Amino acid sequence: MCRHLGWLGAPRSVASLILDPPQGLLVQSYAPRRQKHGLMNADGWGAGFFDDGVARRWRSDKPLWGDASFASVAPALSSGCVVAAVRSATIGMPIEPSASAPFTDGQWLLSHNGIVDRAVLPLTGVAESTVDSAVLAALIFARGLDSLADTIVEVGGRDPNARLNILAANGSRMLATTWGDTLSMLKPADGVVLASEPYDDDPGWTDIPDRHLVHVTDSGVELTPLKGSV
Ligand code: GLN
Repeated sequence: MCRHLGWLGAPRSVASLILDPPQGLLVQSYAPRRQKHGLMNADGWGAGFFDDGVARRWRSDKPLWGDASFASVAPALSSGCVVAAVRSATIGMPIEPSASAPFTDGQWLLSHNGIVDRAVLPLTGVAESTVDSAVLAALIFARGLDSLADTIVEVGGRDPNARLNILAANGSRMLATTWGDTLSMLKPADGVVLASEPYDDDPGWTDIPDRHLVHVTDSGVELTPLKGSV
């Protein structure tokens, strides 16, 4: 399914996170290395970042590798908090820019890597798209990100086939869950990267175990098992 990436730390250019790494999201859009579901991520992409506290997004329903305008501008976009994704649409889901992560409530940028039966999601606020990820994002925003772990355990309990890897950030915190798919972390001196798969062969990458919550703040990284884990 999709591949996502988050950065919290010193300002970096969007290109240096997404386009330049040898196995970054650009390469993952056509040749992911660890993807368990789907072969490539050609159904759209999104790059979100905080700019003086304001969440800004650039999203598309086209393959990332074909976007010359983004490649031209991304080196000039710089931020200390970035959430980006490339998308492999689940069968039956719409392909439109608003179905590409990151989704936002104005405070958080959020990406979902996985699948969930929309019928098990309680109706909340207005979702940006009918795609399962946008409906799930609306539920997570309505419950509040401080309840992310509880929301994921609840949804996972209602849909045992769900895969619920979430990545969200608000400029000063970054949260992620692993529930059915891969997630890796790299901690350079100036920040933290969370990514569905390593964007290079740096030996510093560590794999986050399944069914965990990751919480990144200025003071470090906290890893908590999600209740209901087997
Ligand atoms: N189900 C979501 C979609 O269709 C996410 C898919 C994914 O993780 N590849 O966009």
